[in-house]
Amino acid sequence: MKSIAVDMDQVIADFIGKAYESAKVRFNLDITKEEFEKAKLEVDYPHIAKDFFLMINEPDFFRDFELEDPDAVLVLKELSEHYEIYIATAAMDVPGCFNAKYEWLLEHFPFLNPAHFIFCGDKKVVKADYLIDDNVRQLQSFTGEGILYSQSYNEDCNEFKRVRNWKEVRELFLPVKSK
Ligand SMILES: [Mg+2]
Repeated sequence: MKSIAVDMDQVIADFIGKAYESAKVRFNLDITKEEFEKAKLEVDYPHIAKDFFLMINEPDFFRDFELEDPDAVLVLKELSEHYEIYIATAAMDVPGCFNAKYEWLLEHFPFLNPAHFIFCGDKKVVKADYLIDDNVRQLQSFTGEGILYSQSYNEDCNEFKRVRNWKEVRELFLPVKSK
């Protein structure tokens, strides 16, 4: 069986949706979601960067994220019958999120094996055949085949196969071709 590693934020979990709504309320941030998606907080909004980081490190912040795409649940369930599925998240970027991320995965993807959850930093250590990720830097570091999950801030990248939603993930990986 081949293996697929799947990133969490902006691939199965809607980090930006919650972060944007929370930043508007807490910091009176008056920008559009599109601007927020592409913003580099330390550069564009340095006055809130530190408090934003503290906010996303609060123990429950990641617990109630929406799914990035509701189709992810059924597609991953189907894929898990043909591939070993791993969840690989750069959780070390936000050390306060560990428990909430773990519980969120159990809630939304109860069919996945928790022994296949990888909380890491650099994904070059993840030895799966494929990695689905929105982060170009992580895909470049990964040693298997990278699949770029499309988001506004990565639209200029042509280095990897691109998927725009979970239906496209399904089309890419199923049916499994027998050799
Ligand atoms: Mg991500």
